Amino acid sequence: MYFRPPKIVRTLFPQLIWNIESQDSIFLTFDDGPNIHITPWVLDLLRKYDAKATFFCIGKNAEQHPELIERIRAEGHAIGNHTYSHTKSLLSNCESYVEDVDLANTFLQSNLFRPPYGRISPAKARRLGERYNIIMWDTLSRDYSKYVSHHKCVREVVPYLRAGAIVAFHDSLKASRNMRYTLPRVLEAARELNLTCRPIEL
Ligand SMILES: [Zn+2]
Repeated sequence: MYFRPPKIVRTLFPQLIWNIESQDSIFLTFDDGPNIHITPWVLDLLRKYDAKATFFCIGKNAEQHPELIERIRAEGHAIGNHTYSHTKSLLSNCESYVEDVDLANTFLQSNLFRPPYGRISPAKARRLGERYNIIMWDTLSRDYSKYVSHHKCVREVVPYLRAGAIVAFHDSLKASRNMRYTLPRVLEAARELNLTCRPIEL
């Protein structure tokens, strides 16, 4: 699902990054891990295609599985911050939200941040934007949705692959049915289009 944010969103949130200028690359991202049942499968598949990606990890998961964080980095992927406990922006004040992101960062050491649910207030975006690149997406697989079939999940991504796209997947149990079906097909399609899968490095 290709998403172009309305101009008002871009004006209110100048810190948010929706795509990355590139002639020949796409940027696959995986949120909500690391997960011992899913993340190794993703890493094995990416290695098969010589593809690199960015993992927006939940701090609590990273604390429990530092070996997965090490493996992600060792294999040339980027790590991003996705709060300590998948914290909802709406339910916490600016101070405690920023503290939560910084707590997560003790396990992640990243300058990339993606807000859970893609929601963040202008005030929090301003605060976090001083120290983090806030990465959104322009192509959402909707792999997590029980209303999206695995065929539909492929259709949400493959037609929108083009240079500069940031594609959102999830390495979580909830999304695994759709993600495991869709990711190999996206990697094949990227290869056919001569698009290289790179990590986000800003
Ligand atoms: Zn998330």
